[in-house]
Amino acid sequence: MASKLILLVEDENNLASVIKLNLELDGYSVIIADNGQKSVDVFRNLKPDLVILDIMLPELNGIEACKQMKKINSETPILFLSAKSSGADKIEGLKSGGDDYLTKPFNLEELLLRVQILLKRYQSNSKEDKYILSNFSIDFNTFEITDKTGKKIDMPNREMKLLKLLISKEGQVVSRTEIMQQLWNPSENPSARTIDNYILNFRKIFEPESSETKYFHSIRGVGYKFTKN
Ligand code: CA
Repeated sequence: MASKLILLVEDENNLASVIKLNLELDGYSVIIADNGQKSVDVFRNLKPDLVILDIMLPELNGIEACKQMKKINSETPILFLSAKSSGADKIEGLKSGGDDYLTKPFNLEELLLRVQILLKRYQSNSKEDKYILSNFSIDFNTFEITDKTGKKIDMPNREMKLLKLLISKEGQVVSRTEIMQQLWNPSENPSARTIDNYILNFRKIFEPESSETKYFHSIRGVGYKFTKN
């Protein structure tokens, strides 16, 4: 199996080298970008599996870089690594789409562990890439849903993520808490109706003719479950 590619965005050369070396010792491939603008270009071109992102960077700061990366591919986990250590800084980082936040100075072992956890979470989410449901083909890489005639259905990113999460756990109840953790940042507070509305939309698309729920079940007070039969 090819090793995971990590994009390390850090403008302090010595620190970048130390982190790179340790990631490589853990079996990862690492590419370094030393400014924000460059990091977005590398992200677009090389599609890394994970990004470690400094915030105070020349040309484009890490917060802006994160927003741009998430627009290109919202799935790729981004771990902020910054000297900015206040609660407000962390919230800003997570709000911009970051998946985790570690402050400098940091413990190297902790960094490696967090990288491992983020990659694992990302991997379990992307177990299925293409999925056939009812008359539709769902491509979780391109976020496209196509029907038999080739017609495409638009679905917002977050809805698509929920679809993927439920399908990847076919037959299991996925709790509201887990859904919130996977789809929203801790600082966001989505209304309980939001998830219900997503589920209603799934039913409208994938089971328009059935009077009883076929695929997307709400389990009152617990969560949601996808079943194929
Ligand atoms: Ca810096």
